[in-house]
Amino acid sequence: MKTGVDLLVVAPHPDDAELFCGGLLALAVARGQRAAILDLTKGELATRGSVERRAAEAQAARAALGLHGRENLGFPDGGITPHDPAQVEHLAHALRRWRPTVLVGPWRHDRHPDHEATHQLLRRAAFVAGLVKVLPNVAPHVPRATLWYPTRHLAEPSFVVDISAVVAQKQAAIACYASQVGADAAAAPTLLASAGSLPALAARDAFYGAQIGAMAGEPYVSEQTIGIDDPVAHFGGHARGPAQLFPERR
Ligand SMILES: [Zn+2]
Repeated sequence: MKTGVDLLVVAPHPDDAELFCGGLLALAVARGQRAAILDLTKGELATRGSVERRAAEAQAARAALGLHGRENLGFPDGGITPHDPAQVEHLAHALRRWRPTVLVGPWRHDRHPDHEATHQLLRRAAFVAGLVKVLPNVAPHVPRATLWYPTRHLAEPSFVVDISAVVAQKQAAIACYASQVGADAAAAPTLLASAGSLPALAARDAFYGAQIGAMAGEPYVSEQTIGIDDPVAHFGGHARGPAQLFPERR
């Protein structure tokens, strides 16, 4: 019997995985794959909400996406660092327990220092997870692929996933985080809770979708070149292109 998960998204804070990979996660579940989220912090520094409320929201979002699992490592919000050997080892141990076929983490550039630190920490931990002489009591693990999700800063995607079929499910998962995205006029203003935030995220999905001729898409970066076995089957069969969105175009 297969152990581990097919897809694991690592997120600095509860809600990052849903905001930027919610479509990918919902599609994986719809395809019968085992998908999970690994949150690094409980978001205790967040301007809005409490740790307890955020945890309940995260579990509701897990249910909305139908995830196989979700874990929070409880690292200090605002204190994620690739230079702490304990964090590297703790995360490497978690990767060995989850054993993802495809590992997904935040892209290296972002406005939030925790997001950039998560990228660097995950790079180290994913490498250490494959070393047989580290944590010898747990079998080493190397994912088949590591992908990165851009967040607030633009990155050139290696590919875009068509999430048109699961946009409503992605939005339902994001809506679970009422403490973060809700229109609570009495709460302190934040970027995510601002009136333009969710429309901007929808516009982002539409923008990337348009690149592949779909109504909505999520971008991913692979630092390794991606091979295609059969270009004719790929581009002639299920590949997306402007013809899908604009069938009259030639
Ligand atoms: Zn975040």
